[in-house]
Amino acid sequence: MVQSAVLGFPRIGPNRELKKATEGYWNGKITVDELFKVGKDLRAQNWKLQKDAGVDIIASNDFSFYDQILDLSVLFNVIPERYAKYELPLIDTFFAMGRGLQRKATETSNAVDVTALEMVKWFDSNYHYVRPTFSHSTAFKLNGQKPVDEFLEAKALGIQTRPVVVGPVSFLHLGKADKDSLDLAPLSLLEKLLPAYIELLKKLAAAGATEVQIDEPILVLDLPQNVQDAIKATYTKLGQEAGLPKITLASYFGTVLPNLAAIKGLPVSGFHFDFVRAPEQFEEVAAIVGDDQVLSVGIVDGRNIWKNDFKKSSDFVNKAVAKLGKDRVVVATSSSLLHTPVDLENESKLNPELKGYFSFATQKVAEVVVIAKNVSGADVKAALDANAASISARANSTFINDSTVQSRIKAIDAKLSTRQAPFPQRLNEQVEQFHFPLFPTTTIGSFPQTKDIRINRNKFVKGTLSPEEYEKFINSEIEKVIRFQEEIDLDVLVHGEPERNDMVQYFGEQIKGYAFTTNGWVQSYGSRYVRPPIIVGDLSRPEAMSVKESVYAQSLTKKVVKGMLTGPITCLRWSFPRDDVDQKTQAFQLALALRDEVNDLEAAGIRVIQVDEPALREGLPLRSGAERDSYKVWSAEAFRIATSGVANKTQIHSHFCYSDLDPNHIKALDADVVSIEFSKKDDPNYIAEFSNYPNHLGLGLFDIHSPRVPSTEEFISKIDTILKSYPAEKFWVNPDCGLKTRGWEETRLSLTHMVEAAKHFRNKY
Ligand code: GLN
Ligand code: ZN
Repeated sequence: MVQSAVLGFPRIGPNRELKKATEGYWNGKITVDELFKVGKDLRAQNWKLQKDAGVDIIASNDFSFYDQILDLSVLFNVIPERYAKYELPLIDTFFAMGRGLQRKATETSNAVDVTALEMVKWFDSNYHYVRPTFSHSTAFKLNGQKPVDEFLEAKALGIQTRPVVVGPVSFLHLGKADKDSLDLAPLSLLEKLLPAYIELLKKLAAAGATEVQIDEPILVLDLPQNVQDAIKATYTKLGQEAGLPKITLASYFGTVLPNLAAIKGLPVSGFHFDFVRAPEQFEEVAAIVGDDQVLSVGIVDGRNIWKNDFKKSSDFVNKAVAKLGKDRVVVATSSSLLHTPVDLENESKLNPELKGYFSFATQKVAEVVVIAKNVSGADVKAALDANAASISARANSTFINDSTVQSRIKAIDAKLSTRQAPFPQRLNEQVEQFHFPLFPTTTIGSFPQTKDIRINRNKFVKGTLSPEEYEKFINSEIEKVIRFQEEIDLDVLVHGEPERNDMVQYFGEQIKGYAFTTNGWVQSYGSRYVRPPIIVGDLSRPEAMSVKESVYAQSLTKKVVKGMLTGPITCLRWSFPRDDVDQKTQAFQLALALRDEVNDLEAAGIRVIQVDEPALREGLPLRSGAERDSYKVWSAEAFRIATSGVANKTQIHSHFCYSDLDPNHIKALDADVVSIEFSKKDDPNYIAEFSNYPNHLGLGLFDIHSPRVPSTEEFISKIDTILKSYPAEKFWVNPDCGLKTRGWEETRLSLTHMVEAAKHFRNKY
């Protein structure tokens, strides 16, 4: 029989129970025992749900109170001394590493003050993991036995699970050397780390685990030869070790073909591959599955919310069955379901037709089971028929096709994505119009989103505040922000974005072709969850989305007010995209909608317009090569389509938060001014890379994630350093990102100091 497998289930709970519990614990509202109880209940609930649905292979150790990679760091004692020295209970060390900890001394405990470890995007998803941070003094050993405990917990409920852990090579490769050990190559620690993994696997076997899933997700990256060799050596060694459970080696989010030589012939019991993202790897990966090995076919999408096409998936799995036989094929989710919302049944407000096209984690569990039964030869005709009807209804739905949008896409030509004149000429016209001083100062857009703002927005959404009253409130917030910026003498003002719940959702709600959930939360990092909107059909903008607020703000002041929009790539990346149309088409549709908005802003008298693209970097395909090269071209083109409809004298700004940007990619956007995150990047080479950037640039001068207030002197010394490799005449002065999560007091002080520093340099030059 073909078995069914789920690689991991969301741990946040159907009603965000995990968030409430962890934040409750951090705020001292619940005890550690109460926290652990919530975790235990969530795990039990998830296992039972899968068991009841008929899943054969259910994961354990997919739960975490913060992040599964941070779990591993703590489990293997990869705890830098700056955390270990406080000798906190393990759970508090764990949270301190994830989010930092600042605590005054009490009668029974010492003061604690430590910042968090680095947080990084998990491959090309919007999930962030806490980066394992190694040093010469790292001494691997097992701290507790979380995977074993959770296996036993399931076993006590009568559920045999397959524990999942990220494998040693990915764990090292995704980590980094700590500040005190910069010459350390994490991979060089492999030999020291392996005994700890082996000890863990032996303990799992002793507890009754017959099989484990070991993830080596780095197999979908471009791997240097030494990393490929490390994979080979590691699993060869584990294969020789007696007394371990059977190992399924899993990869996801892409193709493993370039690394095939590293996994071919490895003595594991089976392989899992992602055939949703990379169906083209099938023939070649199926060919390396040995006579006694199993192929787990990842065919139910762990990254998106569309209902599976049973016919198509069954046909795919049957190719594997034909090659390997029913007993050596498993039907699985493509990856963990961590990246999908928990349960579609929690959506009461979704249009029922649309709802019929979606599938969240709970529904995906059932899908895996139906496909496995179908290819095993069981009678699932009713499910297949209903599915076929739904798939064909979606293809023909009126929600999807909009011929006006489609013909606009066809008509896109090079002219549409080219400004009227090249930058130097535009700059002349802009200088003449604006007369900005040297070192012009600005912000990235949002100002503190106070409790008051959230309360009023909630009232408005609930209907207890009328649209007129809400508008009045928003206008008063805008006025407050404008007056403040005038007072501290910033040069280019913003309206502060008080009307926006989220930079993508706010526009998505006004763009035709989008759907929204009320409870479709997905973990982004720690206790922070996002609710990505869903692109369901062709996208267009029925009416202006941001003109009213910008025009109102501009009416209040003689200074220039910058209009603020979210760019096409960011709208696409922070949504669940369609799976029936390529990403480029969706980005271009968004670009056309935004172009209409940019042009409307200009027509309404807004002379500086910023189009934010913080997600530009994360959209980059994981491997170098044709796909990545093509992304760089079309993503830049999408931005230019959105922003090229304006006159030369209208100044286009853009902003990117994540570092490690490719200056050539940024250059291709041809924005007049860009701002990039810089405050945490003390790297002179990075400035040098941008010193040839032809247009104007603001390197973010302070970290908006922290309440810390830099002094004027600190700003001056920072600017001084940058000026060593970056020219004054192209230099903008601004923070790293929007100020929405900050309080007013620190905002006032930080920006005042920033403006003072800019003035200091104006006097010097
Ligand atoms: N304009 C947005 C803001 O200031 C930009 C946010 C972002 O880059 N993530 O909030
Ligand atoms: Zn930003």
